[in-house]
Amino acid sequence: MEAFIADAMLGRLARWLRFLGYDVLYFRDIDDRELVRIARRKGRVLLTRDRGLVRDFRVHHLLIRSEHLKGQLAEVLREYPPGNRSSRCMRCNGLLDEVREKEELLNEVPEHLFHSVDSFQRCQACGSIYWKGSHYARMLESLREIQI
Ligand SMILES: [Zn+2]
Repeated sequence: MEAFIADAMLGRLARWLRFLGYDVLYFRDIDDRELVRIARRKGRVLLTRDRGLVRDFRVHHLLIRSEHLKGQLAEVLREYPPGNRSSRCMRCNGLLDEVREKEELLNEVPEHLFHSVDSFQRCQACGSIYWKGSHYARMLESLREIQI
């Protein structure tokens, strides 16, 4: 399955794509040469809004035209359908594991969550904890609006 690297302008898009299970590298501060170098070396598709960048460098890319998140998501998903992906960490792109023993999280999540949520996931890379709460529901709702 293809993997991506997003340019510095596309941080929100990168996070949403990770939520949808796409493998997306993102660095807040990175210059064009480095971005292109990583894309080439790792065989990642460069997501960028910068026409100049893809004119100056020969690199496998998807030029994002929309200025808005939903339009940007639609552009990526049209080209690379979501298929069967499981979420990645929105912070660091790590893979998520199901937390088997909820008791492990007793001191890590707020008490009301611990009691009201049944299943949690933990990022293998940075340890962030995820659950399907109101934020998750809102994101799914937004995705339905763009008809994915
Ligand atoms: Zn993480």
